[in-house]
Amino acid sequence: MATILDLPELLRELEQDIFQAEVLQGRLVVPSALAPKIARWYGRPGGRGPDAALARACEQRVVKTFNAYTFEGAQFNERRAERPVAKPDTRSLAAFIEDAKEECDFCDPLNMTCADVWGRIEGKDCITAANAAKYDANHGMVIFGPHHPHAFDREHIQDYVQTALQWLNRTHKGDRNLRYPFIMWNCLGSAGASLVHGHLHMLLNPYGFYARHASLVSATHNYQERCQTGNQTRSRTRSGDYWRDWTAVHREVGLAVESGDVVIAAAITPVKEKEVVILDFGFRDMAVGEGAMDALTTVLRAFLDDESLAVLSFNVGIYLRPFEVSNYRLPLIIRCVDRGDPSPLPSGKSKTSDVGGMELYGSSVVSFDPFKVIAAIKRHMGNV
Ligand SMILES: [Zn+2]
Repeated sequence: MATILDLPELLRELEQDIFQAEVLQGRLVVPSALAPKIARWYGRPGGRGPDAALARACEQRVVKTFNAYTFEGAQFNERRAERPVAKPDTRSLAAFIEDAKEECDFCDPLNMTCADVWGRIEGKDCITAANAAKYDANHGMVIFGPHHPHAFDREHIQDYVQTALQWLNRTHKGDRNLRYPFIMWNCLGSAGASLVHGHLHMLLNPYGFYARHASLVSATHNYQERCQTGNQTRSRTRSGDYWRDWTAVHREVGLAVESGDVVIAAAITPVKEKEVVILDFGFRDMAVGEGAMDALTTVLRAFLDDESLAVLSFNVGIYLRPFEVSNYRLPLIIRCVDRGDPSPLPSGKSKTSDVGGMELYGSSVVSFDPFKVIAAIKRHMGNV
């Protein structure tokens, strides 16, 4: 299996100018007092002793990736994943989720959540609510039936996403100027959720794309213009359509699986750990097709159920086609990312955030190899 260290060479073999990747070598010197600790950190089970572990620590390769159109970038160093961090305490997480039931407003949504001025939409096992602390003027939620935020299957995902789309359609019908939608899912506190109980957020505004979506729209247009005016030769990885070419590059290096119009790719420039991007080229209207929802179920179940991924908390963002906006050239895009350990800590301990200055102001720092992510997704294909 290829690893992230092979990516620069794999990209060099392709005719493409979307992604750049380089391997850089970091070096350091370990003082003798620190050597035993470093040897423990970087020793491998069955490895060749402390000297080999120290040698591994002293030479660290970093792979830098960059998207020349979206300006997204990541810095991978697998050594970072070898540093000792406390293993997630899944038993205390399970107890924490169960205990939250006692005062859970979302377990009683009709009485304990606000409604939109036009009422609510009921799905098969979910119901909409208006967010009591809106971050946009039109901000709804889909409250899931089950309390446990990991308790979902293919039918649940279809139900929740379809209900979110109905809310967007209903809100747009009430005011045709509201055209730009966004759906997202924050699963548990480390992903930004203030309540444990599973729920989706839906936003709709009249002014334009939300910021991250706008940067993808801009990249798509810039790429097409550049391909039209640049007289570049067309190839397997350069058709002139940004998302087709983005997909082709991920496919050629071994980071994508495809089924019909739907693509699942482990991102070359992930926003954070294990980011997976789902594209659906078949979608035309403001809708999410069954293939895309199956892909979303596959990815999230692999996140939670595959031992190598062991995700407990995640964000999902769904970039939809806006209402009544012509010249929109993007496929349906769904982004899913790991957000670390949401377990409660013993009192007096403070948690390290997975997002720091690098992510906010520099490039994303990533430990997990995207080639391992796509291998895990492949193992879970067809299981949902
Ligand atoms: Zn609940």
